[in-house]
Parts: sequence; structure tokens; C-alpha cells
Amino acid sequence: MIKVKKRKILLLPGDGIGPEVVDEVKKIIHWFNKKKSLDFETEEDLVGGASYEKHKKPITDEVFYKALESEAVILGAVGGPKWDDLEFSKRPERALLKLRKELKLFANLRPAICFKQLVDASSLKPEIVSGLDIMIVRELTGGIYFGEPRGIKPIENGERKGINTHTYTSGEIIRVAKVAFELAQKRNKKVTSCEKSNVMESGILWREEVQKVKDEEYTNIELNHMLADNCAMQLLKDPKQFDVIVTDNLFGDILSDEAAMLTGSLGLLPSASLGAKDKNGKMRSMYEPVHGSAPDIAGTKKANPIATILSFSMALRYSLELDKEADNLDQAVQKVLDDGLRTKDILSKGKKEVSTSQMGDAIISKLK
Ligand code: NAD
Repeated sequence: MIKVKKRKILLLPGDGIGPEVVDEVKKIIHWFNKKKSLDFETEEDLVGGASYEKHKKPITDEVFYKALESEAVILGAVGGPKWDDLEFSKRPERALLKLRKELKLFANLRPAICFKQLVDASSLKPEIVSGLDIMIVRELTGGIYFGEPRGIKPIENGERKGINTHTYTSGEIIRVAKVAFELAQKRNKKVTSCEKSNVMESGILWREEVQKVKDEEYTNIELNHMLADNCAMQLLKDPKQFDVIVTDNLFGDILSDEAAMLTGSLGLLPSASLGAKDKNGKMRSMYEPVHGSAPDIAGTKKANPIATILSFSMALRYSLELDKEADNLDQAVQKVLDDGLRTKDILSKGKKEVSTSQMGDAIISKLK
């Protein structure tokens, strides 16, 4: 068999259940190396509370440079009560913000897929969510969370004023719109762009720029504009009308959590954060489950590894150009769910409860 070149992957398991779920990804990487002669080269390091314990900071420069040099970063989760009282700059979550900001990961992809086997886990009626498959693209490095001026200042009448500034440049809008159109190209060729152009100038610019990108470069894609508040309602009323949703940082934060909950369980939701492509077509990227470090179940073997495994599948698809392998992994997850195996978080009557590592092993056993 022909050996392909080494693909560098940095594993940052982090805290709580992070190491437990990343262990299952390690086993899958090992399987691909052994059975498919893929040459993934993994390195593993500390992030979050685990890094703080050793180095007194949530991420060291050394780890940060390793992230810069790798083709994909797979992160477990960070945080936990042990570190809740640390000063802001030392808190585990700072590591995530630093990675996202410095790697310039401006596009956050959050699929919301309702697996047919788990349709009962959703709080919506089965007919509304069964077969749901939406991709939300959230702009991640601009908008109101980063805009200046910001702060809290005293005003003349003795009150205080809280200030945040919502700004977007054309360039910031265009690059994330292109990510959405490219994704739609490989899916159902439909993009819904959400903003509040009825009350915000930045929303007007957003709408105009997204439309321009479509008209100039993606004429085969259907584009709809929708006000973000209407999108919040439509996601509950008729979520299957959507294919790809693209929106800014603030609205994306809320809409992606809402869409995620349509699917029922945190333990199933992957995410990807992507940067710009360089001149060789390579981009910086980080993949992580949507859930946190779940300190309440850490060490109990109850963590569901599927969100992290599907995050690795997204890495195969978007960073490593291994679509076939990603399909193989996605299908393996489906087959295990078809067989009725469940971790505790998604357990229902008549299904068999398995541990974190049994779920990982079962998925590997279904890989082709
Ligand atoms: P959480 O996502 O860790 O847990 C919420 C609930 O979902 C818990 O009951 C947990 O047991 C359950 N859960 C989460 N993931 C699961 C999985 N894979 N399998 C089974 N059950 C799962 O959110 P939280 O409890 O609000 O936060 C815990 C810690 O995680 C905090 O320190 C928080 O800051 C941190 N956090 C980190 C990230 C991240 O690393 N990206 C994201 C969110 C929260």
C-alpha cells in the first residue's frame, strides 16, 4: 500500500472528561494508521486547568507554537470547579480564547444533526426534528465581543454606562460568507444569512456583502436573508427548512446553542473552528466537542465520546481532505446507534448502556 505523508495532529485533552473522550479519538487514529496506512503523527499536551497545575498558566507558548505547526488541533474540554476562583487571565477558558484568537479561527462550524435513532431525546416533536441536518456557521473573531470602545464608565448623573461596540468590516463578512457558500456547495446548496438589518447598520452591511459574494461567485446557491429573531423562531417551528445558516458572532452564539438543543444531547455535538487558507490551500483549525469538561461525571466512565469522535471526523473532512475516511467514521457511529448501544446520557428503554471506552471500541469495530 502507498504511504501518504505525515499529517500532524495536536491533541489537547484538557480537563474533566476531556482526556476520557480524547482517548477514544486516539484509538481511532491508531486504527486509521494501522488499517488504512494513513500516517497521522500525533502529539499530546496540556491545556486549561491541567496546564495551570504544571505551568501556572492555561496554555504555554510551547503548546501554542505546536498548535500553529499542526494541521489540526483536537481539543477535549477545559475547566472545572477547582479553577473557578483563579484570576481571569489564568482561568482554563483563556486557553481556548487565545487559541481561537491567535490562530485567527474566524469561522465556527456547528452541525446540528438529529440522529433518527435518538429522535426521542429532542424536546420537539419527532416529525419536526427527525432527519434534521443543519450547519451553522458563526463568525468567531469579530463583532460585539471584540469591538472597541468597550467598558463600564461613570456618567454625569451618577449612573454607570456599559459599552460594547458591534462592528464588522466588509472583509470579515466576506470571508465567513465564503466558508458558508463553500459548505453549501457540498450540501443542499442553500444558505440562510441572519442579521438585524432592520435596526443595525452593521446588519445592513452584512446583508449587502453576503448578497454580493453570492452574486459574484456562487450563483448556483440559493441565498435567503432572515432577521436573526425570526431565525430563532423558525428553528423551533420548522428547522428542516435550513441547510447552512451564516451569522455573526453574537447571533451565532445564541442560534447555534438553540439549534444544538434540537438534537437532544450535548454528548453528540461536534464543532470546528477554521481560519483562512494560506497560499498552499492549508488552513489553521481546531476541532472540539460543544460540551464542557462535565466535572459531575468525570472519572465515572459515563462520558459520551461521540461528540469528540465526530469532531475528529470534521477534522478528517475539512483539514485533512479525507472525506472518505470521514464518511467511514460517521457511518460507524450510525451503525453503533442502530445496534442500540448508548452511553448513559442518551440511554432509553430497551437500549444497552455502555461505558466511554466500550462506545469507542464499538465504533472502531464498525469501521470499514
Ligand atoms: P458541561 O457541558 O461540562 O456539562 C453540562 C451537563 O452535560 C453535565 O450534566 C454533564 O455531565 C453533561 N455532559 C456534558 N458532556 C457530556 C458527555 N460528553 N457525555 C455525557 N454527558 C455530558 O457544562 P457545565 O457543567 O456548564 O461546565 C463544566 C465546566 O466545563 C465548566 O468549568 C465550564 O467552564 C467548562 N466548559 C468548557 C467548555 C470548553 O472547553 N469548550 C465549554 C463549556 C463549558
